[in-house]
Amino acid sequence: MSAAATLPPGITVLERGWLSSNNVLFDEGHSVSVVDTGYGTHAEQTVALIRHAARGKPLTRIVNTHLHSDHVGGNAALRAAFDAQVLIPPGLAEAVCRWDEEALSYAPTGQYCPRFAYDALLAPGQMLRLGTLDWLAVAAPGHDPHMVVLYNDDERILLSADALWENGFGAIFPELEGESGFTEQRAVLEWIAQTRPRLVIPGHGAPFTDVEAALARAFSRLEALAADPERNARHVARVLVKFWLLQVRETTLPALLAHLVPTRYVKLIHARYFPTQTPSALLERALMELVASGAAERRGERVIDRG
Ligand SMILES: [Zn+2]
Repeated sequence: MSAAATLPPGITVLERGWLSSNNVLFDEGHSVSVVDTGYGTHAEQTVALIRHAARGKPLTRIVNTHLHSDHVGGNAALRAAFDAQVLIPPGLAEAVCRWDEEALSYAPTGQYCPRFAYDALLAPGQMLRLGTLDWLAVAAPGHDPHMVVLYNDDERILLSADALWENGFGAIFPELEGESGFTEQRAVLEWIAQTRPRLVIPGHGAPFTDVEAALARAFSRLEALAADPERNARHVARVLVKFWLLQVRETTLPALLAHLVPTRYVKLIHARYFPTQTPSALLERALMELVASGAAERRGERVIDRG
């Protein structure tokens, strides 16, 4: 079944490559709103895609589920192009005001995000009208302590951000910092299982309706990671390498190491989980694992994004 066919009228999902989050557009009659805006290097493409999909209507609101670089990278360009308002979850509002790239995770991940400002907060428990439907903002920590997901009970649609994808969920970053993340992610998955959405519009990948199967995969993956935190740390290392490859497409091993070795998350993974290896060795291992899974290719010193 085509999941797109089950979307109510007025909702358009611009499914992007994995570097950028999806952009979910809501037609509001004379204007449109969007949830999440992709990665910074794709910002101009995001503006063009939204301009096209909006068919002449102005974008008036940008809503962010969380502030990871791949969900807010188009905020600045869209705000400039359309004079749209930006709504963010409250957790990192202060950090946005002073543009603290450390707290906002752009520095520790070695990722890029054009500076943006926000106009209003979207707190868990708040209702938000998007298009013709009312959406409840629900706290969804685990992947990101400050993330919210959006749920409409009439149509039973969940905008799940990085809490649930058709195949998995976003990396559990807080555990790296010595904070709790697995427990929170489990609670979020349990809430989704109880809520039984008919349709999930994830932050990455196509909308899907077989939510039960996606939850089963997510629960088993979560239990595997929680049982073996080193596995979670290795997964985050792969995510950092893959994300950088998605951005640069092709690089060399020395250049990749020069970019990622100084980042705080790599230092944390090294110090906390693999102190007997060098940071370069753990990144090379992550790259080898990506190559083995077909997500990257190595030709001598050259490293190429794949998959
Ligand atoms: Zn994320």
